[in-house]
Amino acid sequence: MYLVSACLLGVNCRYDGGCFNNESLLELTGRGQAIPVCPEQLGGCKTPRLPCEICGGSGGDVLDGKCRVMSVKGEDKTDNYISGAMETLKIAKACGVKKAILKARSPSCGCGKIYDGTFSGKTVCGNGVTAELLIRNGIEVMSDEDFGEQRRGDDI
Ligand code: SF4
Repeated sequence: MYLVSACLLGVNCRYDGGCFNNESLLELTGRGQAIPVCPEQLGGCKTPRLPCEICGGSGGDVLDGKCRVMSVKGEDKTDNYISGAMETLKIAKACGVKKAILKARSPSCGCGKIYDGTFSGKTVCGNGVTAELLIRNGIEVMSDEDFGEQRRGDDI
């Protein structure tokens, strides 16, 4: 069983009210092997909403109180992001999930790389807030892009 970013499964929860339809992940969900979650909505963010990025650090730094999550207009949304991560972790624990497939580069769901806080499309190394909290709690996290590559190599 996998926790999966809901926006990859046709759920219109992205900041712009849109979504993706990842065929491989939809197939996984159709087989009853995925639980869709949107940490930003779980943290009380509206949809659509202003885009946000982690400014001056990573999801780990946000959890450690060393940097903030800001909207493109300068609103501090850190509390929503931390709350959403904690709610997502509750769902993972309640369902006994040990693996997650999350949307690449998101300030919540990003794994390995995230947008750099300048709203310019550039990335830096690091995890989103939710990805980091899941990893700290023993859950294996991969991005949708990693999942696609792995799937091409074997049968996940
Ligand atoms: S990337 Fe994560 S937080 Fe952002 S819309 Fe998708 S599921 Fe929600």
